[in-house]
Amino acid sequence: MMRCRIAIVGGGLAGLAAANALRTHGIKADVFEAAAELGEIGASVNCSPQAVKALNAIGVGKQIAAIGHRSPGPYTRNMLTGEFLEYTDRFEMAERYGAPYYCFHRADLIDALAEPLDRSTIHLGHRLTSVDIHDDRTTLHFANGAQVEAEYVIGADGVKSVLRQALYGDDNPTFTGQMVWRALLKAEDVPTDAVGPHGHTQWVGPGRHLIAYFIRQGDLLNIVSQVDTDKWVEEGWAIKGDPDEMRRSFPNAEPRLAKLLESVKECSKWGLFTRPITDNWGTGRIQLIGDAAHAMVPSAGQGACMAFEDSYILGRWLAACKDPAEAFVNFRRIRIPRVHGVQRLSNANNRFKHMDNAEVQKKAIQAGGGTHGKINWVWAFEPEAEWDKEPVVPAIYAGG
Ligand SMILES: Cc1cc2nc3c(=O)[nH]c(=O)nc-3n(C[C@H](O)[C@H](O)[C@H](O)COP(=O)(O)OP(=O)(O)OC[C@H]3O[C@@H](n4cnc5c(N)ncnc54)[C@H](O)[C@@H]3O)c2cc1C
Repeated sequence: MMRCRIAIVGGGLAGLAAANALRTHGIKADVFEAAAELGEIGASVNCSPQAVKALNAIGVGKQIAAIGHRSPGPYTRNMLTGEFLEYTDRFEMAERYGAPYYCFHRADLIDALAEPLDRSTIHLGHRLTSVDIHDDRTTLHFANGAQVEAEYVIGADGVKSVLRQALYGDDNPTFTGQMVWRALLKAEDVPTDAVGPHGHTQWVGPGRHLIAYFIRQGDLLNIVSQVDTDKWVEEGWAIKGDPDEMRRSFPNAEPRLAKLLESVKECSKWGLFTRPITDNWGTGRIQLIGDAAHAMVPSAGQGACMAFEDSYILGRWLAACKDPAEAFVNFRRIRIPRVHGVQRLSNANNRFKHMDNAEVQKKAIQAGGGTHGKINWVWAFEPEAEWDKEPVVPAIYAGG
């Protein structure tokens, strides 16, 4: 049986970022990933300045700068009329917060996170199936028959986390009643002006929104949408969809969007799962991070960003505390209030982006909320200066 001091279960965005964070402090960890290969097909991820700072601080700044696409920022339009609602200037934001806002292809980002790591510490084809929790260690059982004894475990195994299930039983993710359509177009197949003027447009409308933006230095256009539905849709990164069904999900779309949807020849779909806001983030020798701890609807584009902040801050606490279990307690004390605030913000954005009443929506934007809600406090976070500080969360998102 293999033995290790720290096992990271899940080699996705959170798991690989955590491995880098530990590496920068000379802390050895082994990563156990279910998939036979690292990386994912198709999807993309936006990363706001504070999360870029966390990625820089875990030593992958050079790698992400080489693959990140910098959009000038999204134009938001009404889905039915095409009326311009809001422009978020990401170049100005980058100036203000001191770091860029990147759009990544996920597979590129996974490669960038894996690059600095010692490949012999990444164990592919290891799907965790069950866990025995003892006082002094945890035994991990994998589908391939392997068993690993770990003194401490970081659970980064995503929204359907097996580690979470082992700790909290039926604290399962639930279907949100929303599904996602996703498609990728080659730049040359994108109709002229459909996503003008900057190649980044968000349409918001009754019960749905859709965002289209370039990735891979402008070679590909990523289309991702969220649609309210009463049909159950499975979760998974590679469930094939029907482009006609996708088009039918956006009835009466304004001409630019209709033209863009006409160009879609292949698409995928999946159901959005989340869980109630909870303090169930781990205990004792096991710490959950990323979606395993705090899955959220993607309406603020912060799920992965929070995973990157988690990774940096967990690394700092592990370096600062002799006892990793004490580091985990401190990590939860600092992280939980901030991430709960971001989960509440994401829920509020979701309601706003799917409003039936376009006039109310427009007034809310004019009143200063914007399509991202009041999010400056999220983007203004300084991971290196604030990793050990009690977070400040605006009252409207602080709960209680
Ligand atoms: C449509 C959509 C758009 C999004 N856009 C953004 C965005 O723009 N910006 C942003 O910040 N966030 C975004 N997010 C959220 C973001 O994708 C997630 O928060 C992020 O992927 C979480 O990373 P993770 O590593 O915790 O989980 P995952 O990315 O799900 O990775 C989990 C890893 O664990 C592995 N695994 C799972 N089970 C096991 C097991 N039993 N044993 C071993 N390994 C296992 C998986 O194979 C995977 O590699 C979006 C989400 C969606 C759905």
